Amino acid sequence: MGSLECERSVTGYAARDSSGHLSPYNYTLRTPGPQDVVLDVIYCGICHTDLHQIRNDMGMSNYPMVPGHEVVGVVTEIGKEVDNFKIGEHVGVGCIVGSCKSCKACSGKVEQYCNKRIWTYNDVYPDGKPTQGGFASTMVVDQMFVVHIPGNLSLEQAAPLLCAGVTVYSPLKHYGYAEAGKRCGILGLGGVGHVGVKIAKAFGHHVTVISSSNRKREEALDVLGADEYLVSSDATQMQKAAESLDFILDTVPANHPLEPYLSLLKINGKLIMLGVVPEPLHFVSPLLILGRRSIAGSFIGSMEETQEALNFCAEKNVSCQIEIVGMENLNEAMERLHKNDVRYRFVVDVAASNLDK
Ligand code: NAP
Ligand code: ZN
Ligand code: ZN
Repeated sequence: MGSLECERSVTGYAARDSSGHLSPYNYTLRTPGPQDVVLDVIYCGICHTDLHQIRNDMGMSNYPMVPGHEVVGVVTEIGKEVDNFKIGEHVGVGCIVGSCKSCKACSGKVEQYCNKRIWTYNDVYPDGKPTQGGFASTMVVDQMFVVHIPGNLSLEQAAPLLCAGVTVYSPLKHYGYAEAGKRCGILGLGGVGHVGVKIAKAFGHHVTVISSSNRKREEALDVLGADEYLVSSDATQMQKAAESLDFILDTVPANHPLEPYLSLLKINGKLIMLGVVPEPLHFVSPLLILGRRSIAGSFIGSMEETQEALNFCAEKNVSCQIEIVGMENLNEAMERLHKNDVRYRFVVDVAASNLDK
């Protein structure tokens, strides 16, 4: 623990501009404090948000930017006030690494909604030092934003749960869908969507995948365990399914009309937006009014829910369908994610690249 006092130099893969191209980048980590955990990164999942961020889709990207927020690592050092983690333990870090710890959101244990939340990357600590994410050898993180990886969950399987997993787990709990027997729609079968199928099934729901093509039908039904599969452009199928769903988790990362999906909801049904679309979305109000339907949103989950989601998946044997890639294939993986060519989450083997060596 002797080196806790000094800044250390590490290597990550950073984007330098909105081309999003990632290449090796050396930088210093902030000096760890008494509440900090230092971890060596082992695996890191690739979320579509990483793609939005490196390509500046939201118009708020700062460079150089080391993305990655589905981080699994091993603790190598702990600050003197860290009581929740031990050296050698496997841990996870998700989308945020800080919050004010005193506002209503923070005291209500929904710190993901704190206006002073600190994003895992593309943000700054209060001292002005930039945050950098998990496509790097090492991270320093406040223990409050670190979770335990349950022993019976493999490390590569745990990675997607730290964002995609908790992103679907939290709204199921919050909006009252933790009890079995609902009719659930999953719109967009990507990284978040496929974990959505698995977790909604583990909660005991009937799950309908709504996809933009027929390409994923067999896998969705036979491998992921969905009950039904709709192709959104098939008007006959969509018409048949009208007013059949209690709620839909919408994971589409691009502009899309909402009417076709609102029509699938029963009375009181909810369209829960998870995908990031920085443009106005389109719907006409009678579709809400004449069915008392609502459109809602949800952002990841709290740290408590993140731990809960991991424990839930470990207990229910929920596994993600992942493709492991090396750091040297990071750019190719980002391009394939952009082209909707991943079944269903890339997880990068960061440790194998020996970045600092
Ligand atoms: P992803 O792996 O790329 O999956 C998105 C899926 O949406 C695709 O597999 C595809 O499914 C469908 N899709 C893609 N482009 C489309 C288009 N132009 N029109 C219609 N459907 C399209 O992405 P992800 O990692 O799951 O993330 C999805 C979105 O959620 C992103 O915007 C991401 O930033 C956001 N996100 C939000 C949170 C949160 O806290 N709210 C957390 C994580 C991610 P089909 O082939 O089945 O059509
Ligand atoms: Zn994410
Ligand atoms: Zn706060």
